Amino acid sequence: MTTDRMTPQKWAYQLTHILNAYASDRERFPVNVKAVAKDFSHHKYPDDPITKIKGSSLPGFDGGLFKAPKGRKGWGIIYNNSMRSTGRINYTLAHEFGHYLLHRLDYPDGIECSEQDMVRWDSAYGKVEHEANIFAANLLMPLDDYRKQISPKTVIDLDMIEHCADRYAASLIAATLRWIEYTERRAILVISRDGFILWARSSKAAFRTGIYFRTSNCPPIPIPKGSLASGLITTENQRHGIELQPGIWFDEGCKEIVVFSGHYNFTISVLQFENSAMKNFHKE
Ligand SMILES: [Zn+2]
Repeated sequence: MTTDRMTPQKWAYQLTHILNAYASDRERFPVNVKAVAKDFSHHKYPDDPITKIKGSSLPGFDGGLFKAPKGRKGWGIIYNNSMRSTGRINYTLAHEFGHYLLHRLDYPDGIECSEQDMVRWDSAYGKVEHEANIFAANLLMPLDDYRKQISPKTVIDLDMIEHCADRYAASLIAATLRWIEYTERRAILVISRDGFILWARSSKAAFRTGIYFRTSNCPPIPIPKGSLASGLITTENQRHGIELQPGIWFDEGCKEIVVFSGHYNFTISVLQFENSAMKNFHKE
């Protein structure tokens, strides 16, 4: 039997289509990845399905896709049972389901995934992990629904992102990364740790107007003094954000909110800019 060369988006779209058709509005979100992965794989690949999904001790990894023991057919998805957040568990299951659909033939012994694999959404990090993350984000957080929660023109705050993380049972980080993909506003996410930028992701509108950081093949960029990410964080200004003067992050002022991940030990700064700079851009 040949396997269709499907992209992560196509797989997620196919599943989204099925879920839209069969799940009632009340049951539609969050996606029950356990049930979907088992049902869909049994239906689509009855000789090679996902037969087991469970938590287990998995030191050093968030999850993995494992071949069934000799003599049995199919695959198992294991998540690290020390994870407590429903969002992280659900996201991990979706990521591993993505590996099953996209990569099991190339990795017949399975794949184990670290926490780093779950949060690096930049393709430079690794194609296989990137594809699993694209699949997970598309499956859990379809953009047509996400746009109804937060309009592409809206300036966001932490409450809105929390609402979406909750609706989709995804981590705050995954929900924020998903938003940046479709917002029409000029915004950039800056992921930092220990005072330095690890990587960053710009919205399309921001990128077109010069709002971006290059982080590969260049010296580490320090977090600017005076930013929330540099340590000025209180519960209040984290929740509502602060307005920053020009010259701190970029030549123009911006609103910064931060999203923490205690577990991942890094900070995501969400920097949002006035959209008026677009005018200058169009004049050229
Ligand atoms: Zn992975």
